Amino acid sequence: MPDVLYINGRFTTTDERVLGVEDRGFQFGDAVYEVFKFLRHSPIFLAEHYERLGVGLREIEVPNPWPDVNAFKATMRELLDRTEFDDGIVYIQVSRGEAERAHFWAEGMTPTAVAYSRRFRFPDAAKKERGIRVITAPDQRWRHCDLKSVNLLANSIAKKKAQRAGADEAVLLEEGLVREGASSSFFAVIDGRIITHPLDEHILPGVVRDHVIDLAIAAHIRVDERPLREAELFTLGEAFITSTTQGVMPVAEIDGRIIGNSRRGEVTTELQRRFDELERAAQ
Ligand code: PLP
Repeated sequence: MPDVLYINGRFTTTDERVLGVEDRGFQFGDAVYEVFKFLRHSPIFLAEHYERLGVGLREIEVPNPWPDVNAFKATMRELLDRTEFDDGIVYIQVSRGEAERAHFWAEGMTPTAVAYSRRFRFPDAAKKERGIRVITAPDQRWRHCDLKSVNLLANSIAKKKAQRAGADEAVLLEEGLVREGASSSFFAVIDGRIITHPLDEHILPGVVRDHVIDLAIAAHIRVDERPLREAELFTLGEAFITSTTQGVMPVAEIDGRIIGNSRRGEVTTELQRRFDELERAAQ
């Protein structure tokens, strides 16, 4: 079954080679990206993803190919209408465009905008209960982690290290502080309160993170937005990560040490339930 690829205003499939070697996304990592989830052909939290894409493009001074959220929604609607499978993700990338290779870019370049749908196996009920293993790894990313830039080399190296250690995710540490996962936001639960890194240049403003904080507040769970100290990692009652593809996912082990009593904790269970409900309602 062919997949569906959107490129600069037209639709094709990923079989067509659409990018030039001098695209700045390829040569300079001069691009930002987004990933959203769809269920039964319905996009989830599309406006939030558009908003973050817009912020990223503004920061790097690339014109937004979709002038407003309705234009963005229309393209994604058409992409999903052309997609044959019901559930999956859409990967979107906007680069500054293509030009003869030079660090200086020319003003007024035309961005390259691509988006394509992919099947994705979201975690099943057993995995959501069992949770994941994580390792800790040094945060070697650049100093603008609030932008969803395609420069994911440091993230990829950390995740490969996790995979080789039999884990699913790497939690990134810097100056004795826990930042976030290599591809997820990180939450700790201490004495029934949730703790997560505040929004600043050290972390990506996760779409799921934002919703989970709102859900916690609605459930009268206290939220402390502060960096967790590395030393606190091994005294946690519960921990979980959040992301578009994983939702709210319990952390069962950190660096081989079991978290809590090795079962999905109460706070994590409650927030996972509330988040799944919100996601169903967003369809
Ligand atoms: N932090 C990083 C570094 C990520 O790459 C991601 C998702 O890919 C997240 C956090 C979670 O963001 P979201 O909840 O928007 O998927």
